[in-house]
Amino acid sequence: MNQNWRGTVVRHLLVLVTGCLLLGLISGYYAWALVLGLALYLGWTLRQLLRLHQWLKQHQPEEPPPDGHGLWGEVFDSIYHLQRRDMRVRARLQAVIDRVQESTAALRDAVIMLDTDGNLEWWNRAAEKLLGLQSPQDNGQPVSNLVRHPRFKEYFERGHFHEPLELPSPVNDRLRLQLQITRYGNHEHLMLVRDVTRVHQLEQMRKDFVANVSHELRTPLTVIAGYLETLLDNVEDVTPRWQRPLQQMQQQAMRMQSLLNDLLLLAKLEATDYPSDNQPVKVAMLLQTIRNDARALSGERHPIVLEADPEVWLKGSETELRSAFSNLVFNGVKYSPEGGEIRIRWWGDEQGAHLSVQDHGLGIEARHLPRLTERFYRVDSSRASNTGGTGLGLAIAKHVLLRHRGRLDIHSEPGRGSTFTCHFSSQQRAPH
Ligand code: ADP
Repeated sequence: MNQNWRGTVVRHLLVLVTGCLLLGLISGYYAWALVLGLALYLGWTLRQLLRLHQWLKQHQPEEPPPDGHGLWGEVFDSIYHLQRRDMRVRARLQAVIDRVQESTAALRDAVIMLDTDGNLEWWNRAAEKLLGLQSPQDNGQPVSNLVRHPRFKEYFERGHFHEPLELPSPVNDRLRLQLQITRYGNHEHLMLVRDVTRVHQLEQMRKDFVANVSHELRTPLTVIAGYLETLLDNVEDVTPRWQRPLQQMQQQAMRMQSLLNDLLLLAKLEATDYPSDNQPVKVAMLLQTIRNDARALSGERHPIVLEADPEVWLKGSETELRSAFSNLVFNGVKYSPEGGEIRIRWWGDEQGAHLSVQDHGLGIEARHLPRLTERFYRVDSSRASNTGGTGLGLAIAKHVLLRHRGRLDIHSEPGRGSTFTCHFSSQQRAPH
């Protein structure tokens, strides 16, 4: 209330009190006259309050407030102006929301907003086409009821969204979708879904091509390797100057055979999401056999220490785990100088199960680490060709781990050695 209105109210009250005093002077009842005057004033004030209340409760948006006198008139007008301003702001906001919704509705990618618990709040038209969401019946439904793929459920529950997820569309098997979830605001989720069918088909063609070529090369190579072996078995019948070339040919043929085997294994790993044989694997026993093989590879030139908890088992495929773990252990041997200790540890804790393979060998520079699990990536090609590696060992290990809900951590310092650690979630541990 500004100064003016304060003055008016004081003036009104003064007029009222003076009127009451005059009435008291005429009638001789001062007290009663004052009571009557105040009661009238109170009654009038209450009436204005009631009118305001009624207008606030029942008025239409454009309906002006009731006429009021004095201070009450001013109060009515201020409330009316406030309401008008609020309506204008709301209309402006609605226009912005409408524009955003119209533009996202026109997107070819699906945009879905989920609340903290993963219930659907809003989605655009593309989401109806790609995921089969139906408006309005799916509103408020948990997203995992509508996208029922087990990998999506796992991905959503795990809550690590830095990598996108690829799935077939729930409405059309031939469509391949890529889902990316981002958290925003108060732990709400924004889900973007893209149709990546074309990229997926190209990727599939690439995989099929590699698998087919590897398969086709296998038979001719077996024949060549077989003849080379026969020739070398009868080495005395061969001209001496052919002996060395033949030995080198046999070495290279063996290298090609292990390359083809690794390529075929990778193709097999890529063909499905999870291993078909999900059996309990006694990892400690598996590691013992791997240690024995590693000793043979090293020719007893490296001390190999194994500390494995026999109580910790994993669910999965023993053959796949054997390839992954032996690749890590054999790398330790291949890339360590004579006498360098290789330490293998297998243990379990609340987070799950872990395998670490530590060596004190050549080590790897930090800039190579992010690319190490790529196919044919080699830190130093001369180093790798000496060791007879295929460049596929770590790619195989990474794939096997992915299929067993695990991940690979690599720490390394050039000249000091490397530690490769596989972490498996507790979900993957097998009870026994
Ligand atoms: P490769 O068959 O050549 O060993 P991998 O995929 O197993 O292929 O490894 C990729 C590259 O990573 C290797 O060529 C090697 O340079 C490097 N590397 C792997 N393990 C080790 C290790 N324990 N110490 C040093 N370098 C390593």
